[in-house]
Amino acid sequence: MSKQPTEAQTGQHSLSNIRYTDGMTNRNSIMRYNRLMEMLLTHAPLDYILNELVLFIEKEKPGIIGSILLLSDDQNHLTSGAAPNLPDFYNQTIDGMAIGSKAGSCGTAAYHGKRVIVTDIENNEYWADFKGVAHQANLRACWSEPIVSSTKKILGTFAMYYQEIKAPDENDIQLILEAARLAGTAIEQTNAEKHQQLTTNIFNNLPYAIATTDSNFQILSINNAFERITGYSLNDIEGLEAFMLMSPGKSSDDYREELGSLDDTSSRKEEIRTQRKSGEDYLIEQTITVLRSPSGKVDRYIWLFDDISARKRAEGVIQHQANYDLLTDLPNRNLLLDRLNWAIKLCNKNQSKFGLLVLDLDHFKEINDSLGHELGDELLKHVAQRLKQYIKTSDSISRLGGDEFAIVIPNINEVHDLETLAKGLIEEISKPYSLINKENLSYITTSIGISVYPNDGDSIEQLFRSADQAMYSAKEQGRNCFSLYTQGLQEKSDSQAKLHQDLKVAIQNNQLELYYQPIINLKTNQLDKAECLIRWNHPEKGMISPATFIPIAEKTGIIKELGYWIREQACSQVKSCINDGLKIRFSVNISTLEFWSGELVSSFLESMEKHCVVADYLTVEITESLFMKNQSEMVLALSNLRTLGVRISIDDFGTGYSSLSYLGSFPLDELKIDKSFIDGIEGEERKQSLVEAMITLSNKLGMKVVAEGVETQGQFDLLKNKGCDYIQGYYFSKPLPAAQFTEFAIQQWIKANPEYSSPI
Ligand code: C2E
Ligand code: CA
Ligand code: CA
Repeated sequence: MSKQPTEAQTGQHSLSNIRYTDGMTNRNSIMRYNRLMEMLLTHAPLDYILNELVLFIEKEKPGIIGSILLLSDDQNHLTSGAAPNLPDFYNQTIDGMAIGSKAGSCGTAAYHGKRVIVTDIENNEYWADFKGVAHQANLRACWSEPIVSSTKKILGTFAMYYQEIKAPDENDIQLILEAARLAGTAIEQTNAEKHQQLTTNIFNNLPYAIATTDSNFQILSINNAFERITGYSLNDIEGLEAFMLMSPGKSSDDYREELGSLDDTSSRKEEIRTQRKSGEDYLIEQTITVLRSPSGKVDRYIWLFDDISARKRAEGVIQHQANYDLLTDLPNRNLLLDRLNWAIKLCNKNQSKFGLLVLDLDHFKEINDSLGHELGDELLKHVAQRLKQYIKTSDSISRLGGDEFAIVIPNINEVHDLETLAKGLIEEISKPYSLINKENLSYITTSIGISVYPNDGDSIEQLFRSADQAMYSAKEQGRNCFSLYTQGLQEKSDSQAKLHQDLKVAIQNNQLELYYQPIINLKTNQLDKAECLIRWNHPEKGMISPATFIPIAEKTGIIKELGYWIREQACSQVKSCINDGLKIRFSVNISTLEFWSGELVSSFLESMEKHCVVADYLTVEITESLFMKNQSEMVLALSNLRTLGVRISIDDFGTGYSSLSYLGSFPLDELKIDKSFIDGIEGEERKQSLVEAMITLSNKLGMKVVAEGVETQGQFDLLKNKGCDYIQGYYFSKPLPAAQFTEFAIQQWIKANPEYSSPI
């Protein structure tokens, strides 16, 4: 498009010139002209003004038909502006036409930005595509002048049509130029108004608060969002200094200095805590930009800000959730790892040490099961609270998950300090808890493992591994105590891992053997029961105690396989005794894990059926700790076991810490008094009283009593006197391998039943 200025832009012509040169002196003309000016001045709608302009020109120059076309926003098409006296079909054809180098007079004029004079439409190449419709409208000549803005942008065209072949004279050119200039003014004015309207709309509807101030920061205007966010109306604050509101505590000099270096393209952004009109505290993110006059003087400051309190709160919550435990609100593992990393860096720099304590609550699972999860959670919260209150603020505590906690103690001088702390924590945790909705006080204890950086590990993982091993060692020492990591623990852990591997092999390679310990009926002095006890003859290590490998088998899950093997052996032994004419009931120990596995009953039944053994010959021994579980689950599991028809014996009675109430609630056949009550019973009256009470209790509940670990004649006599039903112990016999046991049992049977004759 041509960039050459047209005469219209030189401003040398005016309608008043034309008026005189053309002799436009009649009253009508002047009135029309004044009307046009008035419309312009009063910002009448654009199409009214353009229409009036066309009519005015047509009146001034009889014989012409005027037309104004407007350039579309895409700058490639012309649309109807005003052409009141052209036929409708013609206007409709032209509306939306593309501009181009041969697009009639107007399309070509708009395309090149130059006036196009076509004196004979019929024979002009610009009109090749349009002459049909022009002919139909009886149009013969068309002169078109581009309408140009003050910034030289093409806005449209002003055209004069004739119904005869005609060339313009000088006056015509003046008139067309002036008409185009006037049209340009009207269009620009409307555009400016639209723009102004748009800006105001944006200003008012922007979701951000905006205030404009003069160079002295005095507020000139605000938008709706400003009112909404701050609570202030323009009335409240007009003329006040903006920073008083947005950043109290700063002076105009502070701001002048801070903003002095801003130019038109830069801005200053800050987060500020301030107050609404209501006095409510809130956080804004504020951007201040400066508008300068061409000379560089500050003209306006624009303060744009947004209330970011909600966003910050949300960010805070997310941040909190990522780093804090939901239940206890203690830092979680994530945050702990950060702090450990930091502690390691600090220690490396200062050549110092720090301690890591890993705490695991004792039997929490059982307590959780018996209390129910809600109270279990409440207990955890109490524990967390106590731990938090007990440690120093410089120590970091965290909940690792479940019932496990960790504490990092920075900058320790003596390992002894960690021991003192651990002792204190253990005591603190063991104090009673009073839970909402629970009448009785609750109790829990904790086992603590301690490792020290860098002595026990130079990485977080190693440090945790060491502390964990120490914690397991504390558990093994009976819980409710702490243990420091030592090299020995690592060796122990390695050897346990090795045992686990070996145990897998042992089952396949027949290194295991089931022993049988006779149980004697004190009323008849007859051997009519026995307990099955497993033995492991390790090819290198020799005999390994079940007390060593059963816990490993439980930890690793091998116990299921092992349990199956034990029951197979036991059933086979029962069968063999029956074949030998011996009527002996065998007790089989069941581990907690097997008890809850859900497969125990079917697996047991399989072995019984396989060896054709009836339940009358079998007892299962379970331990007290099972009763910590939820009552209804326990009743279900026990009645499942009952469907087998076997008897149920409660092992190690008195060593667990469950309440006696379960004895009344669950159907049990037998109670085994733990060896610890029998040891030294002869000299200890308290033990005697306890054992006596257990015997009386069992009798009242219809249960038989077995005393375990009877080693002496004294114990034997005492128990017999107190009315104990059975005894088991070295006094009578150690656990024996199958063949020896059978031999022993036959001898006993012969002693007690002289008429007995072995079928073999
Ligand atoms: P437990 O069920 O309480 O078994 C009784 C333990 O006391 C046996 O130890 C037995 O040998 C021992 N004992 C019996 N009489 C005396 C005595 O007069 N003096 C002394 N000092 N000890 C006596 P054992 O065989 O070493 O078994 C230890 C524990 O290992 C058992 O305690 C039981 O909890 C577990 N266990 C043994 N065999 C099995 C098994 O087949 N399955 C399962 N799940 N656990 C088993
Ligand atoms: Ca037992
Ligand atoms: Ca026992």
